[in-house]
Amino acid sequence: MVLHTGKSKTVHQGADENTVILRFTDNITAGNGEKHETMQGKGELCAAISNLIFAHLKLNGVETHLVEILDETSVLAKKAEIVGVEVIVRNAAAGGFVKKYGVAHGLIFEPPVVEFCVKSDKLGDPMANENQIAALGIATPDELSEMTKKSLLINTYMCRLFKKAGIRLADFKLEFGRYENKLILCDEISPDSCRLWDMKTGEKFDKDIFRQGLGDVLDGYREVFRRLSDVK
Ligand code: 5GP
Repeated sequence: MVLHTGKSKTVHQGADENTVILRFTDNITAGNGEKHETMQGKGELCAAISNLIFAHLKLNGVETHLVEILDETSVLAKKAEIVGVEVIVRNAAAGGFVKKYGVAHGLIFEPPVVEFCVKSDKLGDPMANENQIAALGIATPDELSEMTKKSLLINTYMCRLFKKAGIRLADFKLEFGRYENKLILCDEISPDSCRLWDMKTGEKFDKDIFRQGLGDVLDGYREVFRRLSDVK
């Protein structure tokens, strides 16, 4: 039974009430779905990269929704109640930040910047602060502070991993869910939801290739997978 059809994944009921099956599809979208295409092998690549990153985070003690990898495009996950905010962590200025604040692309943030956006396709995922999110009843201030701490820790682990692959993690988006009175990392982490730049040349390996029409986006994703697979 399909519970939810997302832009790049479908969510199905798992074998029991506490699990779901996430299927990575070959769809790629940008600009809130305005630009969309289907690319053979894209789901498999995103699943493989996300599974590698989730395994790395688990090794570092981060609790995630992942229960088991089922096949090349599907994972079994804990059925968490998804918190309706996207957490964005930025190590360098790009995309929305450059557009909003007019700073130079690549400006380094130390410490990293954490932002929240309300998850709403209809509203275009508007950015919101803690007070606004609490007023909307989407998450409590305690939950937001816990998500911030967890996201910064995840950022540290991910930066370390990508550095070993010669990749700079410029920014990324996370989603959390409530499960057994805890907040756990959900959704996916892949080049669909991160900005990943070659450390030496600055070449882009993420969805910006598709957003900006820079070439074969899956070549970038393949490079990310190849390099992450080689990290010892
Ligand atoms: P920006 O706010 O600059 O557009 O995005 C910041 C980071 O979060 C980028 O790595 C971008 O890919 C990711 N991101 C922001 N919103 C979404 C979203 O709705 N879906 C996905 N997959 N990633 C997002």
